[in-house]
Amino acid sequence: MRWKCPRCHEGDLFKTGIAGGVYNMHKECPHCKQDFEMEPGFYWGAMYMGYALSSGYMLVGFAICLWILKLSPTASFALLIFLGIIMVPFLARFARAIWINLYVSYEPHSHIENHEHVDNQTDKK
Ligand SMILES: [Zn+2]
Repeated sequence: MRWKCPRCHEGDLFKTGIAGGVYNMHKECPHCKQDFEMEPGFYWGAMYMGYALSSGYMLVGFAICLWILKLSPTASFALLIFLGIIMVPFLARFARAIWINLYVSYEPHSHIENHEHVDNQTDKK
């Protein structure tokens, strides 16, 4: 799974797959030069997002194990914690991808030249 730049949906957020490091992000978009770390500690907030994601996962997962798979509460917890450990790197990246998407909106076909062109037009008005 590859997460894309929230602005152009073209450049990759991360340099490598998860095996290459969970937080191995580009400093800026390789395609449109969108800054991926707008301020120091930008991704602190993503930790709260990760917390929300993992609590949601536990609640939904527990309900599925208990009522659909008919597992005992102990077996449900064991399974969820086991799967949770595997999912941690995915959740961590997912949290960062959601976080930056809250701050950067989609601009189709955006790249540097396009942006300068728009700026020149507004100057002339
Ligand atoms: Zn981009």
